Amino acid sequence: MNAWELNLSEINQEAAAFKEQLRKRSGANLAECCQCGKCTAACPFAPYMDVMPRQIVRYVQLAQLEAALTAKTPWICASCYTCSCRCPQEINLPALMECLRQEATRQGKIAVKEVDLFARTFMKTVRAFGRSHEMLMMGLFNIRSLHFFQDLRYAPTLYLKGKIHLLPQRIKDRATLRRLIEQSTSQVKKGGEKA
Ligand code: SF4
Ligand code: SF4
Repeated sequence: MNAWELNLSEINQEAAAFKEQLRKRSGANLAECCQCGKCTAACPFAPYMDVMPRQIVRYVQLAQLEAALTAKTPWICASCYTCSCRCPQEINLPALMECLRQEATRQGKIAVKEVDLFARTFMKTVRAFGRSHEMLMMGLFNIRSLHFFQDLRYAPTLYLKGKIHLLPQRIKDRATLRRLIEQSTSQVKKGGEKA
């Protein structure tokens, strides 16, 4: 077989295995996608994506896993659910994007490192205080991303309007929250499935 020829039986087996894995983990039945494109038309972040949401589904349907896992799109997706509200097949695209982010992280293929850094910095403050502390989070993020002065000009206005606070607010039972986060993190690392 030439390098450019596709072995459809192999692709179908691989696609079936991956779709089954995604179905269990995300609840998204990608076989029902009819490629209508409504998800892409509705997505407010599509202009910033390198691959459109409809195409991500297509990649997975065709077992083009490398293309799906290395795309920036899952990292740009804001999990706003606009796509799945418009989808005639009620496909849970945000859950699919989340699974692709998790898998890409496991395989060391994070396409937009700043998004991953932002999420990890956010979780750091949540672990510490039980809720996010925007001022600390943005400070940490700017330092870790080496964008020291990014968005700094907004801080005085946000502070005066009471949107950000100098001191963090803490919840009472932080230990339980940390335990829940650890459980969830270790399940994701193991490639946990939804019931
Ligand atoms: S809206 Fe739904 S059915 Fe249409 S392309 Fe997107 S995921 Fe597929
Ligand atoms: S959930 Fe993600 S893919 Fe769907 S509309 Fe929102 S940003 Fe776009």
